[in-house]
Amino acid sequence: MSRRCVVAGIAVASAVFMSISGRAIAQDKLPVSNDIVVTLLGTGAPVPSPTRFGPATLVQAGGLNLLFDAGRGVTVRLFQLGLSSGNGIDAVFLTHYHSDHVAGLPDLWMTGYMFGPFGSRAKALRLWGPSDGTSTPSGVAKIAEGLAEAFSDDVRIRQADEKIAAAATKIEARDFQGDRVVFEEAGVKVTAFNVNHGDLIKPSVGYRIDYAGRSVTISGDTKFDENLIKYATGTDLLIHEVFAMSEQMAKLPQLKPIAAHHTSPEEAGVVFSRAKPKLAAYSHIVLLGIEVRELVSRTQGAYQGPLEVGEDLMRFTIGDRVVAKKWSPELRKYPD
Ligand SMILES: [Zn+2]
Ligand SMILES: [Zn+2]
Repeated sequence: MSRRCVVAGIAVASAVFMSISGRAIAQDKLPVSNDIVVTLLGTGAPVPSPTRFGPATLVQAGGLNLLFDAGRGVTVRLFQLGLSSGNGIDAVFLTHYHSDHVAGLPDLWMTGYMFGPFGSRAKALRLWGPSDGTSTPSGVAKIAEGLAEAFSDDVRIRQADEKIAAAATKIEARDFQGDRVVFEEAGVKVTAFNVNHGDLIKPSVGYRIDYAGRSVTISGDTKFDENLIKYATGTDLLIHEVFAMSEQMAKLPQLKPIAAHHTSPEEAGVVFSRAKPKLAAYSHIVLLGIEVRELVSRTQGAYQGPLEVGEDLMRFTIGDRVVAKKWSPELRKYPD
């Protein structure tokens, strides 16, 4: 296909996109500045909630768009923002291999290589994930190989029928072990660190992203963990999971092992009070029999600093201060 054809095609597809979304397409990449912009694409967990999609956090810094976890609905949330699941994502980092963190990945990958402003990825999808060093291939390699096998018919058909480039249909999987810098491009450094999600749920990591003297730390799924506090200390924004139950719910034997893999609001309060972020925010939120107000009050037992209870599409701009904005579904944008 000639370049002119491609450009004309994208213009047509853009018009279609505008008619679908009713508004102009956002720039896939933010203008480069010293700010880090963090958007909670999904603040839920395995519960198939229409308001809290699966865990996924977009971090935009240095002209790069990095995605941390790819839970259910991530492609839909990117589309709401006017971001492409293809060219709009430079790299994906998985915290661990529980399905709620990975369920949106096949959609992101395949929608990303389709033609249109929601896709049009020209290169392979770059995917990072932790390895415990013992299982070969690693979890992330199995996902890449498994998806290629499971969806080989779609790849074959779209290459033949829609002339999708073979390179765009690939997933480049990279694994890593232990606490280390896993990515460094355009001044953006991503450091992975082990967290404790339970003895049978290894590997499991959190990530700290540093850029231009600013940082955000994402806990991943974890119990109260000293290693997280070590890496999160002094970070600007700390995004932490939480699992909170009413006293009645806490008596259910089925919930005990699940609760044991996560952090209670009281424990998260201790984490926040020791790590001292400029802003603490909850994501991967499980509330069983309690309301947000109680989640906050239970956290405040140990921590009285700034706290946001995350909502899908809530956005944080990390500049000299950390500013949170809620998405307006009515306006279909962030209020000015
Ligand atoms: Zn989870
Ligand atoms: Zn998990």
